[in-house]
Amino acid sequence: TLRQEKQRITHLYKTGNLILLLLGVLAGLLITGLYLTVQRRKKLEAARTGFIAAVSHELRTPLSLIRLHAETLHHGRIPESRVSEYHQTILNESERLTAILNNVLDFSRMERGKMKLNLAPVNLTEATHRIIDSFTYRLESDGFKLTEDIEPAVFALADPLAYSQIVFNLLDNAIKYSDDEKHLRIELRKGEGAAILKVIDCGIGIPDKLKPVIFDDFIRAPNAEVTARRGSGIGLSVARKLAEKMGGKITVENNTPKGSVFLLQLKADDETARS
Ligand code: ADP
Repeated sequence: TLRQEKQRITHLYKTGNLILLLLGVLAGLLITGLYLTVQRRKKLEAARTGFIAAVSHELRTPLSLIRLHAETLHHGRIPESRVSEYHQTILNESERLTAILNNVLDFSRMERGKMKLNLAPVNLTEATHRIIDSFTYRLESDGFKLTEDIEPAVFALADPLAYSQIVFNLLDNAIKYSDDEKHLRIELRKGEGAAILKVIDCGIGIPDKLKPVIFDDFIRAPNAEVTARRGSGIGLSVARKLAEKMGGKITVENNTPKGSVFLLQLKADDETARS
């Protein structure tokens, strides 16, 4: 009948509308998904490009300092009394170059899943003193005061190169992100089943909302205090990955009244400490 036919058409019409609506929603979801993926790719691509530029920029300063000092020495233009200071700068800046390159190499190895650490009992007391020594000249010439509280014979299950790299990155940042109050403090002690290192500065500090992300790849605080300083945003991400690969962890807290406290915890190796 006419009525049944009318009902059938209305029903078809409604179903058609529903299907159209569903298709619309599906298309919407697909487009949004695609858009987000493209945006993410673009962001990552931009971060990578920026990273390459930043690393190249970071390498330039030590390289030009090495060159300048070597040339000056070569031409014999400086008094005998300052020769050792020039040698020291060349040594320090070479160490800096090595550390920057190690960060990049570690970073890329970890991205490719090719990072292998050799865990063994390491005397962190000795290792820490050695790294601090390599900073002495830089600390002195930049006017820093350093206080140390380093317990003797602190041993951990660690990879010595990875440990040095972490401490280097933390100290380098502590110096880099200090402003007028140039005071650093380094503590190393035995905790419960752990070896604990603290690198404390009285510098610009880290806003709370950034604390959870500063250990991520390529993250730098967006404020001028940070962006004005050289950096490529991988030092802390490498440090965290290395710490985790050694079964440890790294965290950050506020220092009071200002600055940051970076805390590295590694598994203690008490066996070795006793023997
Ligand atoms: P980079 O120093 O090359 O930018 P890092 O991965 O070492 O990269 O550090 C990431 C970010 O964390 C820095 O850009 C800075 O914003 C913040 N940061 C790290 N260490 C400190 C510190 N000691 N004091 C204040 N901010 C810090």
